Amino acid sequence: MVLLGPPGCGKGTQAKILIETYGIPQIATGDILREALSQKNPLGLEAQTYMDKGLLVPDHLVIKIIEGRLQKGDCAGGFILDGFPRTLGQAEALETTLAAMNQQIEHVLSIEVEEGELIRRLTGRRICRKCGESYHLIFNPPRQEGQCDSCRGELYQRDDDKEETIKKRLNVYQAQTAPLISFYQKKGAVRSISGAGSIDAIKQKIERALSS
Ligand code: AMP
Repeated sequence: MVLLGPPGCGKGTQAKILIETYGIPQIATGDILREALSQKNPLGLEAQTYMDKGLLVPDHLVIKIIEGRLQKGDCAGGFILDGFPRTLGQAEALETTLAAMNQQIEHVLSIEVEEGELIRRLTGRRICRKCGESYHLIFNPPRQEGQCDSCRGELYQRDDDKEETIKKRLNVYQAQTAPLISFYQKKGAVRSISGAGSIDAIKQKIERALSS
């Protein structure tokens, strides 16, 4: 399954719900790149220069990550791609990789949210440094300010969730990623879902879309 949609539309949140329901892994290129960066490995350091500016990391780097990740045993029964593909080049590389594995994309969900709401969501987002749990200062605040409810880790704001970088990321989404919706529409695989409303309301819309 591929989850498409602009930064802040709720892809990651819904992916975490879907992996519980289906028992398949979430593959989030953004998380993999941030993890590489926290370990200061060469991939992370190369990616950082792009991520900090709100730009996409070059295709060859993310395609390599995905090719390696899809070979792991836990992907044999399916997987949820969150934040990949983000360019036509990535979508085409994914087709080739999956064909070689005798697999194919079964569902593409496009989650749509208007820009003002995306900015509100992203500027208020806070992430746990320890376990990666996501919070929102207004819509989903932690019980204790600055501290994760689950593991008491410190909450931080991603550098690319600052307002100036967010606008850049949204422009990049429109220019480079939104065209993927028509790429997958031509294959008859896309279902569009409004990402407005509560996490639970969106979850129910996704469940209905997947069972229809
Ligand atoms: P995300 O956590 O999905 O919002 O991604 C954070 C940042 O990681 C993006 O703004 C990009 O710089 C980089 N990134 C994540 N996934 C990709 C991808 N598929 N292609 C290129 N860059 C990516």
